[in-house]
Amino acid sequence: MKTKENCGGIDVFRLLAAVLVIAIHTSPLTSFHPEADFFVTRILARVAVPFFFMVSGQFVISDLLFRKDTGGRVLLRYLKKIGLLYGIAILLYLPIGIYAGHYQGVTVYSVIRMLLFDGTFYHLWYFPACAIGTLLIAALSRFLKLPAMTAVVGALYLFGLFGDSYYGLIAHIPVISGAYSAAFRLFSYTRNGLFFAPIFLLLGVWAGSRKQGGARVRGIVGFALSFLAMTVEGFLLHQYDLPRHDSMYLMLIPTMIFLYQLLLHWRVSAPRNARPVAAWIYILHPAMVVVVRGMGKLLHQTELLVENSLIHYVIVTAFSVAAASLLAEGIAHWRKKPFPQGRAWIELDRSALARNVRFLQSRLPEGCSLMPAVKAEAYGHGAVLIAKELNTLGVRAFCVAGAAEGVKLRKGGVKGEILILGYTHPREFDLLRRYRLTQTVVDYDYACEMARYGKKLHVHLGVDTGMHRIGERSENISQICAIFDMPNLIVDGMFTHLSATDTMEPSARAFTGGQADAFRRLADGLKEKGYPIPKIHLQASYGVLNYPELAGDYARVGIALYGLLSTKQDTLRWKDSLAPVLSLKARVVSVRPLHPEESAGYGMAFTAQREMKIAVIAIGYADGLPRSLSNGAGAVLIDGCRAPIIGRVCMDQTIVDVSGISHVRAGDIAVIIGASGNETISAADLAEQSGSITNEILSRLGGRLERMMV
Ligand SMILES: *Cc1c(COP(=O)(O)O)cnc(C)c1O
Repeated sequence: MKTKENCGGIDVFRLLAAVLVIAIHTSPLTSFHPEADFFVTRILARVAVPFFFMVSGQFVISDLLFRKDTGGRVLLRYLKKIGLLYGIAILLYLPIGIYAGHYQGVTVYSVIRMLLFDGTFYHLWYFPACAIGTLLIAALSRFLKLPAMTAVVGALYLFGLFGDSYYGLIAHIPVISGAYSAAFRLFSYTRNGLFFAPIFLLLGVWAGSRKQGGARVRGIVGFALSFLAMTVEGFLLHQYDLPRHDSMYLMLIPTMIFLYQLLLHWRVSAPRNARPVAAWIYILHPAMVVVVRGMGKLLHQTELLVENSLIHYVIVTAFSVAAASLLAEGIAHWRKKPFPQGRAWIELDRSALARNVRFLQSRLPEGCSLMPAVKAEAYGHGAVLIAKELNTLGVRAFCVAGAAEGVKLRKGGVKGEILILGYTHPREFDLLRRYRLTQTVVDYDYACEMARYGKKLHVHLGVDTGMHRIGERSENISQICAIFDMPNLIVDGMFTHLSATDTMEPSARAFTGGQADAFRRLADGLKEKGYPIPKIHLQASYGVLNYPELAGDYARVGIALYGLLSTKQDTLRWKDSLAPVLSLKARVVSVRPLHPEESAGYGMAFTAQREMKIAVIAIGYADGLPRSLSNGAGAVLIDGCRAPIIGRVCMDQTIVDVSGISHVRAGDIAVIIGASGNETISAADLAEQSGSITNEILSRLGGRLERMMV
């Protein structure tokens, strides 16, 4: 299933960082205030390149380190990409470099040094630094774990520091300065792939794995303090004339750690193409400096366009952004990737999800956490997308139906406990351990099967209190004790499932009370026998809403988290507290007339009685649109108007009546679930029209739909 992750804050900062790099190379404030320019270019803008390294760390190095199966491929792909960009940039700047006399008196040795460390043009050192830093980390990871690696690359950074901003401190110490002089025959600066890049690449890995909610204030204060300290550090070093170069500061490390956390939690939507545009700004801006200088000469405006440093900076930036955007657009056009909203797709409302989490949490007492059910692709929403979003909202436990679903979440980077609610084949027990999944004990026989496996497994004990689906029967206390006694089973939790919480009718209430009592009796019995009671949970969505008093340590909420309840009536009842997360949309394929007596679709199931206008939309039952909505049972929304479904829903396409809607054209958007203008169709409407429940409608939404968080 295809999902798209949104890293808005990181993506927006890519653009800001690229613009800061331009500042480093053009010194925008020199004409006005040298000290201010020093601050902007030698201190503030110094966060830009480490930021880019951290992004590579988060998105590339993590895969390299933690996905042993695909790590090698990830490394190759990344090196190829970096190599390609570096190659293009080298060719682009070759004429300028030759013209500027950069390559006079080159030797084979100096060419290698340039290619590997210094870069063939002054900003191009970044690319070999990425490659060498990555290779260094790949090599270290063969012997060391992440903390030890971090210590090693931290020591390399310290070495680099004394060849950079702190050079003045060691320049006069005989042996040490000798060592640095030798090193500087290999490379001109220590801010390169050996001493500078690796630490930030690894900090990116840490940042990606430590993303947590609720630390906003600490992040802002931490960033402000460390950046202030870095500013003081920069000015002091400058005052005492210690730097040989000024890329590396001690305080740059905490500054970057805090800054990156803030960016990870910054919820903005980045402009389309932000990633390639930032990369091309980085590559192209020196060429734009040349262009602007040339323009200045040609127009006899050098004084304005070049000598006024601020105007120069603004124009170079504008040119760079324009050139980068055009190029990125051109490349995207040339590569012709599928457009995620080209056919039929799902949009997820991030703020609705957050609201539902807050509301459900508010119905539970302190100490009871949500354990969202993200089985069946999070009820069709996209499991990784939803679970990662929930991670950032502070949710630390999930439940799924099977081992494969759990593995997929882990591979997608989901943190916290993952409980498998159903059966796992003994051949998959190794998976449980490798991916830190918790297994439900389905019954006593299954526990014996798990005991035979021998190695330690984390489990929650399922208890049957009346649903008679899974769990050991609550009255079988001796078997349950035996399960607790199995030496390789670590019983972290114990739960039952309430089967009649969706109505408040007296008989259902009595039945639910009976289930809760049976569960409590079991817990009391275990306590009496001296067994420690693990985490307990009983409620699903309806349990939380109708029986909040039955809260345990967890609540396994599913459908309500997605902003709906199983029936239309219940959904309407809770609509002020719960907001639907999912919208389902599809493109209009074609608009055509249907004359009287003509039929549309398979089997002549619909025949026009009058002159009609019909539209074909690009979604069908293979995407999860129930075939039972055929022939007027269902409708879609186009341009805020209802368009009834006519004829039979096909596998990939559906025909709707748009006679009453003017201006419908191919390429327009039809809303199948969601709002359009003042009209709304809810998944609960579809459920009612097709004789099902929302849970079924949602969980059957097809794998070929693109899912995106908006
Ligand atoms: C699916 C499931 C849930 C979630 O149910 P909702 O009614 O969607 O909240 C909870 N517990 C178990 C055992 C489940 O199978």
